[in-house]
This record gives sequence, structure tokens and C-alpha cells, in this order.
Amino acid sequence: ARNTYSLDSFWMPFTANRQFKAAPRMLVSSAGMYYRTDDDRQILDSTAGLWCVNAGHGRREIADAVGQQLATLDYAPSFQMGHPLAFQFAEQLSINAPGGTDAGLDRVFFAGSGSEAVDTALKIAIAYQRAIGQGTRTRLIGRERGYHGVGFGGLSVGGIVNNRRVFPLLPGADHIRHTHDPDRNRYVKGQPEHGVELADDLERLVALHGAETIAALIVEPIAGSTGVLVPPKGYLQRLREICDRHGILLIFDEVITGFGRLGKPFAVDYFGVVPDLVTTAKGLTNGSIPMGAVFAKRKIHDAVVQGQPGQIEFFHGYTYSGHPAACAAGLATLSIYQKEELFTAAAAVEDYWQEAMHSLRGLPHVVDVRNIGLIAGIELASIPDAPGTRGYDVFVDCFNRGLLIRVTGDIVAFSPPLMIERSHIDDMVSILADALKRVF
Ligand code: PMP
Repeated sequence: ARNTYSLDSFWMPFTANRQFKAAPRMLVSSAGMYYRTDDDRQILDSTAGLWCVNAGHGRREIADAVGQQLATLDYAPSFQMGHPLAFQFAEQLSINAPGGTDAGLDRVFFAGSGSEAVDTALKIAIAYQRAIGQGTRTRLIGRERGYHGVGFGGLSVGGIVNNRRVFPLLPGADHIRHTHDPDRNRYVKGQPEHGVELADDLERLVALHGAETIAALIVEPIAGSTGVLVPPKGYLQRLREICDRHGILLIFDEVITGFGRLGKPFAVDYFGVVPDLVTTAKGLTNGSIPMGAVFAKRKIHDAVVQGQPGQIEFFHGYTYSGHPAACAAGLATLSIYQKEELFTAAAAVEDYWQEAMHSLRGLPHVVDVRNIGLIAGIELASIPDAPGTRGYDVFVDCFNRGLLIRVTGDIVAFSPPLMIERSHIDDMVSILADALKRVF
């Protein structure tokens, strides 16, 4: 029998959702675009797991590489010791770094997850400022509705107010206003024209706090987890200019947008804006073995790692930094992306994807559709006094009919594996459209 497990036996995000009686739906296997449940139903995966399985499920090459690596060298201490795969993987990442060779983001720090990559990048930013004689710059700025994971660093710069309420945050963390305005955005395809002046909100924080206190600004090029918020044209460029003017480092959190989500290797390539640091995870190993990585400009890496003699102490590294199995998974993943030209494949299907997403316009409850690359957010009207319930009902209805979607509150997010075909897109849209007609 399915679902006979005790919900009390361990903590998972779904066990917090008792108000929705959210019994876990059990996934037991996966292949290509599909999951299989414990009652042997096939489920189309419209979210690449949790925005991570970009090359599709059940990739033999990754499983074999990991198995072989574990049988050969299962672990190497990340202090004093190295192993060849970590260097090979770092080198491959460096060759394929965001923005290509001109961008100079060719130094890599390994971490164990997106949250760890974010913490790593924030620490590098502060350490770099200190190394160049800007030791007063310790303040970190994020963006409202940004999501940067659950560590204290990511939580502090994150823009989800509820998540920030319970815990003490990093001193001085602050947030620029977000770019989301569904009323003005309504059904814009790709990047909206309006709202670039919102980037100037960074000037407000500079005036308020003083540039000499600010180490870095971190933003997701496209806010993913909070509802696929596509920035207006010129927005990221404007942030870059303001950061440059005031000596503030710019960090792109590409945990979702990295590795082909926008039909380019990274959002850096898509938007042509080069930050100082880039965080990645998820698609880095195709969601297989947990791993994160930070790309840094060489001068930042060198200053932080070598420091000024006697001046800087930067102790950083995890037990699992550059874990052999994760590096094996990452190398196999990169090679799949390249051999199958999956980023190009994502770009090739983008027009069809966009039209399919926007065909949802006019269906019950739909108040906005946002899309860019191979990602989309369908915003539903919330039920007054019960935000999130409509989104949850749609999620359940879709799942019962063989489609896994991601909902955050009342926003449906799609971010499928990059090898998606038109027939899958048609199935996604028709199952979601039916659900929208059925739910209250
Ligand atoms: N940054 C972004 C942009 C993310 O989307 C996420 C995860 N959804 C994270 C950081 C945190 O990654 P992880 O859950 O691997 O810690």
C-alpha cells in the first residue's frame, strides 16, 4: 500500500504543510521527462525536479561515472589533499565559464549546494573588499523577492520577509525593491520594457548606508523560486553600472538560470552583463550528486586566496568541497550538455514554448504569464484570505492527472528538462488548462 509512512519520522518541507494535509507523493523511479510513482503512474516532470535535472532523468553516463568514481576513490579530504577529478572539473568549468573567456570569471570555488555556494560568494565578496583595503565594506544587499537558499547568508540577503522574521540576520543586510508588478507586466513575452528605474533603488541604499559600508549586491538574474520574475530590459545593466560607480561587487545567483535554462550557458551570456561572482548548483550535476560552485573573477580569487601577506585570513572550505563523486557527476553532466547541445536545443524550442505558455491567457484565475528561455511563471489570482490554496489545488489536480508542476503560493512555475519536445509542452499546457477550469 502506498503512503503508509509516518509523516512524523523526519523533517521535510512537505511535513510542514499539514494545513494542506500534504501527504508526500512517492516517486520511485525516473527516466527522461518522466517520474514514476509508487502506484506505478507516469508523471510528466515540468520542473526538472526542482529546477535541476536539465539533461533529463536517469542519465546512465552520470550514474556510471559516479559508481566508477566511488569504487575507485570514494573520498579525499579537502584540506591538504587533492584528487584529479576536482582539478579536471574546475578546469572544465573554467573553460566553459559564464560570459566566455572575455568575462574572466574563470576561477572556481566548490561547495555542496546552492545555499553553500551563496554563503561562499558572500564571504568571498567581503574578504576581497578587505584584501583591497576596503575593510569597512561588510554590508550585503539583496533584493526583495530574491531567493538565495536557507543558510544565514542567503536568508539575510533573501527577499522573503516571512523567512527573515524568525531569525537574527547578518548585521546590516538590506534589500532593494523588487521588479515585480503583475499589473504592469501583464502577459509580456520575454523582458518587459518598463521598470528599469527600479534598479536605481540601489542608489537609495547607497545614500542611506554609505557606499563605504557595502561589500556586494546579490541578485538572481531572474527571480525563480518567488514566481519567475523577468527583469525589465536594461535592468541588470543598470545594476552593474551603479555597482561599478560605488565599488560594490555584483553577484549573480545562477543556481536556477545556470546551465542552459535560458537557452544560453548562463544568464550572464543571455543578458550580456558580467558580474564579479556567479553562484551555481542544481544543473551543475544535473541534480544527481549535491554540489555547488562559485565562479569568481581571477583578480578576486587571487586577492582572496593569496591575500596580502599578514593582512587577510580567509578560512573557507567544506568537508565535501570538490567531492569525488560530485565532480564525476559534474564532468559527466557537462559532457552530456555539450554532446547533445542541450542549451541550443532549449533555445530552439523557446518560441513554441512561449506561445504555448501564453495560450493560457484568458483561462480561469490566470492574471499573468511570464516566460523567458525555458522557464515560465503563470500567476493565478489568490483567493482572498486564503493565499496559496488555489495554487495548491492546481498542483494536486495536475499531479493526479500525471503532471508535476511547481507552485509557490499561487504562482505555477515551469522549468522542464532542456530536451523537452513539443508534444510534452502540449501535454503540460492541456493538463494545466484542464486543472484551471476545474479548481474553485
Ligand atoms: N539560490 C537560488 C537562486 C535558488 O533557486 C536556490 C534553490 N532553489 C538556492 C540558492 C539554494 O540552493 P540549495 O537548495 O541547493 O541550497
